Amino acid sequence: MPVSLQSLKYFEEIYPIRIAQLQQERAEGKKIIGTLCLYVPDEIIFAAGADRIILCGGKTETIPRAEESLPRNICPLVKSSFGALVDACCGGDLACPHVSLVDAVVAEATCDAKKKTYELLPRYQETYVLDLPQKPESPQARAYFLSELRKFGKYMQELTGNPISTTALEKEIRAENETRRLLHRLFALRKRDPPPIQGSDVLRIMQRQFFLAPDQFREGVTRLCDELEHTAPGPQKAPRILVAGCPMPAGNTKIPDIIEQKGGVVVAEESCTGTRSFWDLVDEKKDPWVALAERYLKIPCACMTPNDQRIARIAELVEAYRVEGVVYYTLQFCHAYNIERTRVQQALKERNIPLLSIESDYGEADVAQIGVRVEAFLEMLA
Ligand code: SF4
Ligand code: SF4
Repeated sequence: MPVSLQSLKYFEEIYPIRIAQLQQERAEGKKIIGTLCLYVPDEIIFAAGADRIILCGGKTETIPRAEESLPRNICPLVKSSFGALVDACCGGDLACPHVSLVDAVVAEATCDAKKKTYELLPRYQETYVLDLPQKPESPQARAYFLSELRKFGKYMQELTGNPISTTALEKEIRAENETRRLLHRLFALRKRDPPPIQGSDVLRIMQRQFFLAPDQFREGVTRLCDELEHTAPGPQKAPRILVAGCPMPAGNTKIPDIIEQKGGVVVAEESCTGTRSFWDLVDEKKDPWVALAERYLKIPCACMTPNDQRIARIAELVEAYRVEGVVYYTLQFCHAYNIERTRVQQALKERNIPLLSIESDYGEADVAQIGVRVEAFLEMLA
């Protein structure tokens, strides 16, 4: 592994610049939208002349704030995100500074924990909920989602006062596809053996994707790819691990950190903070609304049923990245990903790929115990 990559500094230095940009936009009357899920298309938000930041929380600090009104036994991601919004709206300082810059939250009907939490959000913040079909491959699903996207488009037009033209939407689709292609370029470099970058570094960059403006993010990823393409890989070989499962939003790098401290290397993440965010492109030749509906329904989230496309994606990643073992990551109390593990495990068994299942929260209490299990798993793979 290279000791340090110069281009990684960009992602640290750009944070205060992005905060200043959001403050400036707000002062000029631009609307800032907070989202909490990949199913909400950025293209529609940007085409309406608004900006967006993703509010999924990976920090523990805001969880107690959420537990004042939510049950303790729900997923930490929901509690962290909700706690951050509540705290920011009540003038607290527990959340990251960008949370208080949001004008409206565009949420989505996915898992139960999120849906029911969104019913509490309007007390603190204007909230719009995008509905989703639950069976993405059913013939009616696309038509229904298309109608939901058009409705969402109308909401954005009313909020911003800007019409969404076909030209603007097509332009945003092309721009987002450029980001997706760039991420494919970055991830392709991780197919090298050994890869030129640690998985925990890639995860930290992927987390920035949801906060930076798209052009800022592309600039950083381009610099990184340019540097990696001229970086000699380190001499040491390490077991190649795919992390599959729940998202790992900013503040949470616990699992890849443990894997790489114990001597493995994460070569890909089948996650919303990994391949799920960019794998499929939007068809630029179709009607933009139809193309968006089709592409976003391809996101293989465990909230969907049946979720065959996720099993196929994991098999594809295992082969393409020459994965030796899968660490299946479930956030505590996330039933969707937890239950889906059985099908993933079966598919991997048929391919002789071992799986280590880890269920964890954002706390530090289980780090040593997870470390012991990861160490044993890596030894078995070596
Ligand atoms: S795991 Fe599913 S619900 Fe959560 S952010 Fe990803 S797509 Fe959305
Ligand atoms: S990790 Fe699971 S429980 Fe948590 S928000 Fe995502 S789908 Fe819902």
